[in-house]
Amino acid sequence: MFSFGKFYGGVHPDDGKIASGSAIEDAPLVERYVIPLRQHIGAPASPVVAKGDKVLRGQLLAQAGGFVSAPVHSPTSGKIVDITTCLGPMGNQLPAVVLESDGEDQAAEPMPPMDWHNASPADLKKRVGDAGLVGMGGASFPTIVKLSPPADKPIDTLIMNGVECEPCLTADHRLMLEHPDRVLTGAEIVAKILGVKRIVIGIERNKPDAIALLNKLIKAGDYKGIEIHDLPMRYPQGAEKQLIFAITGRQVPSGGLPMDVGCVVQNVGSAATIAEAVGAGKPFYERITTVVGTPLVRSGNWRTRVGMSYKDAITLAGGVKEDPAKVISGGPMMGFSVYSLDIPIMKNTSGILLLSASELSQYSSGACIRCGRCNDGCPMSLTPGLMSVQIENEHYDMAEKWHVMDCIECGCCAYSCPAHRPLVQHMRRAKSVIAASRRAAENKK
Ligand code: SF4
Ligand code: SF4
Repeated sequence: MFSFGKFYGGVHPDDGKIASGSAIEDAPLVERYVIPLRQHIGAPASPVVAKGDKVLRGQLLAQAGGFVSAPVHSPTSGKIVDITTCLGPMGNQLPAVVLESDGEDQAAEPMPPMDWHNASPADLKKRVGDAGLVGMGGASFPTIVKLSPPADKPIDTLIMNGVECEPCLTADHRLMLEHPDRVLTGAEIVAKILGVKRIVIGIERNKPDAIALLNKLIKAGDYKGIEIHDLPMRYPQGAEKQLIFAITGRQVPSGGLPMDVGCVVQNVGSAATIAEAVGAGKPFYERITTVVGTPLVRSGNWRTRVGMSYKDAITLAGGVKEDPAKVISGGPMMGFSVYSLDIPIMKNTSGILLLSASELSQYSSGACIRCGRCNDGCPMSLTPGLMSVQIENEHYDMAEKWHVMDCIECGCCAYSCPAHRPLVQHMRRAKSVIAASRRAAENKK
């Protein structure tokens, strides 16, 4: 189906999806899992197990620490050997449970399977919360919060995000090809929770096989009413606000949320996980992760358990044939470079990207030459070049006035900049300084 709107800005990086033809493989068990208790925005989960406890796969390890929080479940059976802190992909310390696998992978009693057609929206929503669902890419908002819009924000459209515009990542693509029924059923469950009639799945045109397969299932009559919108390849087509505009023509206001324009956006991975949580009573302890890059012996897509280390994930991909010059958590546009491989796969680890020395551009950043290319590339219509100079001089108030908080950290500005200025890092720094000062002002009230 034709998409509605072409968003402003954006760029066309090489999509680098070399693992798109690799079927999903189950990652083998490893000896040790380090399971962070904060894999989401909001309060960390509170442990309900102690050192020395024996646990089973899917057993609750930690309960949600508040409404904006999510419970955490065991990725396999074994013994809790420590409750400590661990290094997260963004270099921060996270509270964590350390599990030594017993190699048996014995499952705990699942939550009772539900017939979603006959279950109430409230019961379905509770199941999503109990299963520990969080957004599966980026900021990882607890899904239950996204599915609880206030009464004064009526929702009429559910958008399932199957765009996967981030170069190199193919986990969502493989999921749509190999488990289309879970994606479609999950979408119907979310629509029932929200009371929404219109369900649209947005997919970029570089996945024609997934578009054809989902359309075929919908036309066969099993999933009546779900629309597929094939979208032009343009990064960041999968960013929430750009996706909403492309599909509905509605613009989320500055500082606003999708619910302000009657929309909720969920990733296709979340839909599949919701379908499993409801239909099979399975909590969220594994996900599909793309492990990709030229230094690897082979790139692919793995069903990885939460808590497996990046080092183990790289080993299961056959190891490396040359030392990577950089390892990135996520993709090349929005991911974070990591400085240790002893960090765990989390609920939002969509990919691990290895880059060789020859793939890294050798340059140093220079002064802004006022060419304006960053403005042209910015899908949020910001002025990253001008803000960057203000941020370098610690004039955060100016950056705030110029709407730096609307930055979605997509990286289009840095990609476009001939002076190789670290524009995204500047935006991230300003956003974190401004957010901290807003929190401090709020606490003083
Ligand atoms: S300023 Fe932010 S939103 Fe704009 S291009 Fe740069 S990273 Fe993307
Ligand atoms: S693209 Fe780079 S050099 Fe050009 S205006 Fe933006 S920051 Fe300056």
